[in-house]
Amino acid sequence: MFKLKPCPFCGGEARGWCRSATITQADEIDYNGYVSCTKCPAKMRSTYQHVLGPEAIADAARNWNARGAVTPPAT
Ligand SMILES: [Zn+2]
Repeated sequence: MFKLKPCPFCGGEARGWCRSATITQADEIDYNGYVSCTKCPAKMRSTYQHVLGPEAIADAARNWNARGAVTPPAT
């Protein structure tokens, strides 16, 4: 299981989730992954659609954590 950094905007707890997006020509369901803050509207999406929901969430989690890392520290 991946670890989510706290929200870079408000420090709130982040939650990962996914939603089925499109049915491909092979009748597979693709998933969009999301990480959203539980306290403010901050949200990050996965870079690609994935066949497996957990992979989509992990993708979104990587994006979320990368954004947290580039946020300048509050001084
Ligand atoms: Zn937040």
